[in-house]
Amino acid sequence: METLLVFLALLGVTSTQQLFVGDQVLRVSARNEEQISLLGVLGEQEELQVDFWRHPNSPGHPVDLRVPFLTLQGVKKFLDFHNFSYSIMIEDVQELLDEEKESMRRSRRIKRSSRTFDFASYHTIDEIYDWMDVLVEDHPSLVSKIQIGQSYENRPLYVLKFSTGGRNRPAIWLDTGIHAREWITHATGVWTANKIASEYGQDPSVTAILDSMDIFLEIVTNPDGFAFTHSSNRLWRKTRSINAGSRCVGVDPNRNWDAGFGGAGSSSDPCSETYRGPHAHSEREVRAVVDFIRAHGNVKSVISIHSYSQMLLFPYGYRREPIPDHQEMNELAKKAVSDLAAVFGTKYSYGSIATTIYMAGGTTIDWAYDNGVKYSFSLELRDSGRYGFLLPSSQIVPTATETWPALLDIMVHVLEHPY
Ligand SMILES: [Zn+2]
Repeated sequence: METLLVFLALLGVTSTQQLFVGDQVLRVSARNEEQISLLGVLGEQEELQVDFWRHPNSPGHPVDLRVPFLTLQGVKKFLDFHNFSYSIMIEDVQELLDEEKESMRRSRRIKRSSRTFDFASYHTIDEIYDWMDVLVEDHPSLVSKIQIGQSYENRPLYVLKFSTGGRNRPAIWLDTGIHAREWITHATGVWTANKIASEYGQDPSVTAILDSMDIFLEIVTNPDGFAFTHSSNRLWRKTRSINAGSRCVGVDPNRNWDAGFGGAGSSSDPCSETYRGPHAHSEREVRAVVDFIRAHGNVKSVISIHSYSQMLLFPYGYRREPIPDHQEMNELAKKAVSDLAAVFGTKYSYGSIATTIYMAGGTTIDWAYDNGVKYSFSLELRDSGRYGFLLPSSQIVPTATETWPALLDIMVHVLEHPY
């Protein structure tokens, strides 16, 4: 026992980590608009501490909510009273967290040297940042690491640049992990970076793309939040900035962009998981990307990667009207999800944010689109609602593998449709 405690202490695992013993994730179906708004009311009752994993949308779409053990009875009573049908998606959240931690430990035990990296395991920010340096060392003529700013807690914001030369070539921007708890996205980012580096000169599409374009990939887009998911609260979503006049911390960095800022699907309450922030681009992590893309001036595609619910989305989120490029984007999305499904049969839906999930003001890809980046997409990776944000690490490589052809479809389309 003692050795175990010493071991845990060495790993930085301390008792300050929030526990989720007995917390459940419920999958609720809302039959009509009235039930949708009732779920909104449920979410606003702060003492119940309901955490939406999938937000109320429109009748027929599932809503997933994590309910703390202490308020579980009250929430179930509320659902029964209002005649909701629901099922238990996760029986005990802490059990999945324990399994996840154990599998990270197992992976570290078998790590052979500082240069080996287990793509099938989840990793901390330090492990990912160290690995980025190894990738750059292994591919010095293709990959470099640039710093685009600092986070609120002064962590460096690193971006991997894949380039075969030229000056300010047309570029594709990819980001993962802007929502801290979406660990499958960081892991997919790492796998994808390695794939891009190893396929140049091998795969004709990757070679053609990098012979005339650059790719930028920010893997840990919200480093403070991500570090916090490892040290304190695995289910943290937002940034870690202090909100003046509130005891609640953090801003939803995917509601903080200057595109329909403050609109539907975002909150003005600092305690909300979708708090938009005091003003657009208030978050350093968002501001750094805005400044980078503006200064670059030749970014042709932005692909922002989230989880979960298996969707490929494009603008708009802040308005229902289709974008002028709707038909082209829709065709491209259709091809991408079909090529994704061809790998393991994983089904994705696709369409504009507003019509496919919900209205959401202030999102990354709406900002990109409104600032001249036509090929702006967002992915919601696995799964569709068995493990949610706690996707087992055994699914990392399959998820990244099936996502790759979809990313490649978009990148090839960008290459072949200059504008
Ligand atoms: Zn997200």
